[in-house]
Amino acid sequence: MMQRLRDSSWLNALADLFFPPQCLACHSPLSASILPLFCPACQAQLPWIRPPLCTCCGMPFRAGGNHLCAACLTRPPSFTLARSLFHYEEPIRSAFLGLKFKKELAFAPSLTMLCSHSVLRADFSEPDCIVPVPLHPLRLRERGFNQAVLLARACFPQWRRRVAPLALVRQVYTPSQSSLDGKARRRNLRGAFKVADSVRLVGKKVLLVDDVFTTGTTVEVCAKALQEAGAARVEVFTLARSVVG
Ligand SMILES: [Zn+2]
Ligand SMILES: [Zn+2]
Repeated sequence: MMQRLRDSSWLNALADLFFPPQCLACHSPLSASILPLFCPACQAQLPWIRPPLCTCCGMPFRAGGNHLCAACLTRPPSFTLARSLFHYEEPIRSAFLGLKFKKELAFAPSLTMLCSHSVLRADFSEPDCIVPVPLHPLRLRERGFNQAVLLARACFPQWRRRVAPLALVRQVYTPSQSSLDGKARRRNLRGAFKVADSVRLVGKKVLLVDDVFTTGTTVEVCAKALQEAGAARVEVFTLARSVVG
C-alpha cells in the first residue's frame, strides 16, 4: 500500500478527472497537467526577461550588451543586484493576480519549473537567508497569506528552509503605491520596514523576494534596512518587472 501511495500517478489521474487542468492564463482546458500549466499559445507568449540588462538593477535594454543603467550609476542602490523572471505582462499578469487575490495555488508548481529554466538564475549567489517582503499585519489578515512568501518557496525550493518570513517587519500601513512616482513612494515608505529584533543578519548573504519590481523603491527601502542590520550582501528576486509609465 505504501508503495502504491508513493506512486502518485493514479492520484494525479484522479485529480485530473475531478479538476481538469486549465491554462493558468486563459483557462482553456489542458489535456493533462503537464507543468507549467499554460496552453501552447500562452506558453509561447511568456514574456521572459533576457539579457542585455543593467548588471545592477536588472532593467532590460533593447539592444547592446550588459552595462550599468544611468539610474544605478548616479544613485547606486543598497542591493547588489536585482533580477526579475518576467516582464509584468500577459499571460504572467493574469496567472499572478490569480495567485495573489484568489490564492490559485496551481501557479506555484508551474513557477518552480519556470524559474528553473530562467537564464538569470545563475546571477544569484547562494543566500544564507531568503527574506520575503512582508505585508502589513492588517493587509495580511485581509488577504490571509503573503504572496512573496509563496514566491520565495516556489522559486527557490532547494533553499526552502532558508526562507525567513518574519525577518522583516512592516511597521507602517501604506496605501497602494501604484499611483505614486519614485520620490513620493520613497517618502511614503520611509521607516516602513525594520529587521525583527530576534534576527541576526551580520555578515549574511540575503536574498530579498517580492512580487513585482516597479520603481524599485520597496526593495530599496527593505535592502537598506537589511544592510543596516549588518547583512553583507543583498540580492533581489522579483517574479516580474513592470515598466514605469
Ligand atoms: Zn492559455
Ligand atoms: Zn540599473
